[in-house]
Amino acid sequence: MNMTYRRLGKSGLQVSTLSLGSWVTFGKQIGDPIARKLMHAAYDAGVNFFDNAEAYADGQAEIVMGGILKKSGWRRSSYLVSSKVFFGAKGDRPNEEGLSRKHIVEACHAALRRLQVDYLDLYFCHRPDPATPIEETARAMHDLIVQGKVLYWGTSEWSAAQITRAHAICARLGLHAPLMEQPQYNLFHRARFEKEYAPLYRKFGLGTTIWSPLASGLLTGKYSRGIPKGSRLATPGLEWLRGIVTGPGAARRLAAVQKLAKVAIELDTTLPRLGIAWCLKNPHVSTVILGASKVAQLRENLGALEVVDRLTPAVMTRLDRISKPVAD
Ligand code: NDP
Repeated sequence: MNMTYRRLGKSGLQVSTLSLGSWVTFGKQIGDPIARKLMHAAYDAGVNFFDNAEAYADGQAEIVMGGILKKSGWRRSSYLVSSKVFFGAKGDRPNEEGLSRKHIVEACHAALRRLQVDYLDLYFCHRPDPATPIEETARAMHDLIVQGKVLYWGTSEWSAAQITRAHAICARLGLHAPLMEQPQYNLFHRARFEKEYAPLYRKFGLGTTIWSPLASGLLTGKYSRGIPKGSRLATPGLEWLRGIVTGPGAARRLAAVQKLAKVAIELDTTLPRLGIAWCLKNPHVSTVILGASKVAQLRENLGALEVVDRLTPAVMTRLDRISKPVAD
């Protein structure tokens, strides 16, 4: 099925409803040739947004992506690329992380160098920074937009109250306001996206680029019989993620995955496609950022587009009944 596109919130920018991210994979879990194949398979399928951050593999994910973009021959106008600032790349001296004007500007320049592009389409504040006034952050983002180094700025995992405060400051000072949020959203993680942010879609025309649509793979069913070798949860350095299959509530989540698998079979589809199609049903989702360590996974997940129409109101009610009791 052909790729579909949505406006990013109230902006004129069109983003493919499925996009590709690089967290954990690029520069770390997978080799550069696989990263290249993933980006080309995605682009060939109509994906126009590639997500990145200064912190991914300490800047290496941007270096890998930048090299692939450079060699691709793709017109710059045919894709969007992002970076995110907050956690820092290399270095943990004062001012090498956070949302101060100094770090935002330096991190932007570093991302542009690593990605080998003249401007970032989307630039996110990767987390809120309680130690920096939002006014300072908003002014720095506004200035980067005026300088043409960034086209749109946004937030990631900010509270609704923090986003609202940023809008109030930008309105008062005549600054470019944040356009988009990058929150986690999947069948098992719903409350913030569906409840807390609800007023923001109406008030500010907030766009969203959602992450971990498959809850790091849990919603593919791959963890139903332990942690397979080579999977994300088996990857050294990512032990902290294992809580989703071993920590509190894990048994109930795994049981819910079994129930979701039955629904997938009835709909003549697969669990990953069902989970991603469910995200796409929400009109407040501008794009679902896919993660993949193999091209076969990406191809499988892109097939979610074919499943969206099968999620009738009756099916959605069933999915609610299965997921809501175990979701946060
Ligand atoms: P998912 O929840 O979809 O997890 C992706 C992982 O699940 C893959 O890398 C793979 O891991 C496994 N997987 C995916 N598809 C399949 C399949 N069909 N069959 C079996 N296993 C599969 O997304 P991510 O957590 O990767 O998030 C997507 C993107 O969102 C990131 O790349 C990043 O750009 C962004 N993000 C942003 C965050 C933020 O704070 N703003 C935080 C996290 C992500 P494996 O093969 O290794 O098991």
